[in-house]
Amino acid sequence: MSMEDYDYLFKIVLIGNAGVGKTCLVRRFTQGLFPPGQGATIGVDFMIKTVEIKGEKVKLQIWDTAGQERFRSITQSYYRSANALILTYDITCEDSFRCLPEWLREIEQYANNQVVTILVGENIRHNFFLLVISCALYVWSRNLILVLVGNKIDLADKREVHRQRAEDFAEAQSMLYLETSAKESDNVEKLFLDLACELIREA
Ligand code: GDP
Ligand code: MG
Repeated sequence: MSMEDYDYLFKIVLIGNAGVGKTCLVRRFTQGLFPPGQGATIGVDFMIKTVEIKGEKVKLQIWDTAGQERFRSITQSYYRSANALILTYDITCEDSFRCLPEWLREIEQYANNQVVTILVGENIRHNFFLLVISCALYVWSRNLILVLVGNKIDLADKREVHRQRAEDFAEAQSMLYLETSAKESDNVEKLFLDLACELIREA
């Protein structure tokens, strides 16, 4: 019997303001549950779910940000070796949408830190030309997939962020865009399956 019971393994990290529904999305997808009145923290770092796509077993390791949703409080170890980031906001909360650029800056800064760390390790930091080339190569090779998710579409009557606005934002940032409801299970399966397909395509 093989030790590896999958064809692909991907690490997916959810980020976004507290209260937008990250934990509920993960719970819905991995356990089929919508836990009512559930606390902010789930106490585990990640959940696993294996899906089958075109006959291939794809193991998804999904990291939730259990109560660390402040900028720069999410450690690099958390992002390390992530294959995809799901940036989530709440369509009924303008503020959660307005914070998206800040989240993107954080992601960018994280990527830059990684490059510097690698280069310091190689002791070539003084060589500016090598630095620029390495940065470009690193960013190009990393292939981090970004998905923007507008959650809570079951609360359409309380919508504060117009769909078109979010679509435009996502397009400008080369992100995929989906609107979901963890509560009604709308598009949740699709979110993770589409992402898995995209990850296989880029692998
Ligand atoms: P997190 O802080 O991003 O992990 O958010 P949670 O998953 O803990 O959810 C925050 C609150 O939003 C909870 O009260 C959930 O019940 C609620 N919630 C999450 N997803 C949905 C959704 O799709 N629809 C509705 N109506 N409420 C949701
Ligand atoms: Mg949470």
